[in-house]
Order: sequence, then structure tokens, then C-alpha cells
Amino acid sequence: MRSVEEALAGILANATPTATEWLPLDNCAGRVLAHHVVTAAADVPPFANSSMDGFAVRAADAPGVLKLAGEVAAGSREAPALAAGTAVRIMTGAPMPAGADTVIPLEEAKESERGVRVPAAETGAYVRPAGLDTRAGDQVELPVEPLTPASIAVLASLGIGEVEVHRRPRVAIVSTGDELVAPGASLAPGQIFDANSAALAAAVAEAGGEAVILPLGPDDPAAIEGLVRWGIAVADVLVASGGVSVGSRDHVRSVIERIGTLDFWRIQVQPGKPLAFGAVDGRPVIGLPGNPVSALVTFELFVRPLVRAMLGLSGDGRPRVRARVDEAITKDEGRRAYLRVVVQRDGEGYVAFSAGGQASSQLRPLAAANGLLIVPEGVAATEPGGTYEALLIGAIR
Ligand code: AMP
Ligand code: MG
Repeated sequence: MRSVEEALAGILANATPTATEWLPLDNCAGRVLAHHVVTAAADVPPFANSSMDGFAVRAADAPGVLKLAGEVAAGSREAPALAAGTAVRIMTGAPMPAGADTVIPLEEAKESERGVRVPAAETGAYVRPAGLDTRAGDQVELPVEPLTPASIAVLASLGIGEVEVHRRPRVAIVSTGDELVAPGASLAPGQIFDANSAALAAAVAEAGGEAVILPLGPDDPAAIEGLVRWGIAVADVLVASGGVSVGSRDHVRSVIERIGTLDFWRIQVQPGKPLAFGAVDGRPVIGLPGNPVSALVTFELFVRPLVRAMLGLSGDGRPRVRARVDEAITKDEGRRAYLRVVVQRDGEGYVAFSAGGQASSQLRPLAAANGLLIVPEGVAATEPGGTYEALLIGAIR
């Protein structure tokens, strides 16, 4: 049996980032930059400007009553120069007039026929100097994560209209099992709805990839071979679910072995002991267990990091917290468990509750959970009052 770390290391060993492509900035939300450091071509802001609506003055002239000598708005190509003893009406974002060093906010000034009465002011007040945020030539480091609205705004403020990003890794999804029927159709006796295809496709998208859902696969070696070949022809990675166990109808493993290379692992993880990993025509092929909770949790642990590695990202991108548990949630003593829990704030820290039944077929507790509580090998249950690490898969409410 392999540890989670050993299995993950094996999966990531040959992962290579996808090629890059250029995209318009307004079409790159969630995409991952090829280069996370950009050189600023110019100052941001490009010129000294006012951070308030008010009056541009010389601090040396304040306090006093200053003659109003023109105005300057945001977007003005040229600002009137400021003579001593005068003020220029200025709007937020407008360039500072030459000779002015300070802005008096409208609220602090008083206009009359005689001019503008201004209070004493500190030199430079309400002025945003050129290059305040970024100087021309600065190396601007952006977080090594999918682009957020704020990072996109930084790039836009630097005048960058197109960015080089990694192509989304394409992941083919194939659910196998004679009992499976697509949701929306009707069930004959002995059939169940396929809970994995759409769910794994959503998990691929959440990880930053692009899913291609293939037709459902019957428990038939020739059909599974056809689907695996189809998947690797249209995608960078193939993820199958079901048919990796030891049953007489479990063919995914033997197909990978026959047409490619296979590492079959029993992993010390609960849920999801069996996992087939291999390659066909140089593309990674992963067979996840069919139970939907096992499929989604093993995706989280092993496929999400692979998709991220193909985007040039490390780790799983999930926050972790330590949470206290007040109940004994039982688990398999031999395996590390990822229990489905609801994590809540509790004073300075966090507390976790079992989200419901922990069987690997029980989907609703997984949907209710915002955390996977990591309970190590060697213990048969959580210890009431003990604290454990929780991987956050959803928001804390
Ligand atoms: P298997 O991994 O093929 O042995 O399947 C284990 C269990 O998961 C069986 O009860 C299957 O019916 C169930 N199962 C497998 N694939 C799916 C699926 N796509 N959706 C829902 N249940 C599934
Ligand atoms: Mg099956």
C-alpha cells in the first residue's frame, strides 16, 4: 500500500505544463500566466494627479484667500500652470498644474466673490505622485495562482492588453459501469444515475482545466479500450471512474495495462483505496474508484494537483486550518481518512462536525461539507477534544 504522498509524487513525477497561448485581458479570468513577473513599461499613475475634488494650490500660499484661476478635469491634456497666490479648481484624477504641490479638498475650502479661502495644508496633501503605485522598470510580481480580478486590474493598469497564459489542461472523463444511466433519462430495474461524469467535469473546471465528457462505458474491455483511446486522442489526461477494483467486471485496470503502462496502487486513503495510474501513448490515465464520494475525494487529492501542475501551479491551492473535533468519528485504522466535515469558527479557532454518514456512497454529506478532516493512519476514530488538520473545499459559513 502506498501513502497519499507517495501516490501523489508518482502522479506528479512526469507532469509537464501545457503550452501557452495569448489571450485578450478581458478573457483571461481564472487563467494562469506563463510569467508571473512583468516589467512595468511606465509609471503608474503616469502623472501626478489629485486624489480629491478641490483646489490645487501651493502649500506655501495656505492659509489664505487665493484667486481662482481656471480649472482642470480628469482627462485634461494640459493643466494650466499655477501662479503664486492663485488656486485652480481640480477634479479627482486630473493632472496637477505645474507649480501646484497640494490639493485642498472642496469640503475644506470656501468660495466667495473674493476668491477661495483655504486652510493651512501639508505640502503634497491629496496628491498622488507619478509612479506612486509602480515605477517604470519595476518588476511587478503577481501571485502564482489563477488570475483574480485584482491581478487582472494590475495588468490593465500597466497597459497590458494581452497576456500569455497556459492552455487549460484538457481532461477526458469516462464513467464506467453497466448499471449507469445519464441523469435525466429513466431508470430500468438495477440501474442508477451516473453521479460522476458531471461532478468530475465540474471538479476539472474548478481545478482550472477543461473537461471533455465521453459517453458512459459499459463493463466491457473492448468498449473501455475504445473510450480510453478516444479520451487520450482528444485530451491531455484521461480520468475514468469505476471498474478499478478486484471484481470480475472491473476492466479499467487490465485495459490500461494491455494498451499502455500501469501502476496500480492500493493507497492508504479512505475513501478510495484502489487507484489505477498509468500512461497510454504518453498521456496520463487515471482510474478512480466508482463510488462517487471516493471518486471526488481521490480527484481532490490526486487529480486536482495534476491539473494544477499542468498549469505550472504547485500544491492543491486549498487553505488548511486546524480544527477541534468534539465527537468520535470512526474510520479505518489502517488508512488516512479524509472525513467529510463542516468547519466553523469557534472563538479564536475552528471546530469541525461530521457532515453526516461517512460511507463512500453517501454523497449528501460531501455536498454539505466545507472541509475534509485529515485523520492519520493508526487511529480508529477521532478523539473528542483533539484537533486535526482540515483541508477546506468550501467557504466557512
Ligand atoms: P466500482 O468502482 O465500479 O466497483 O463501483 C463501486 C460502486 O460505485 C458501485 O456501487 C457502483 O454502482 C457505484 N458507481 C460506480 N460508478 C458510479 C457512477 N458514475 N455514479 C454513481 N455510482 C457509481
Ligand atoms: Mg463497477
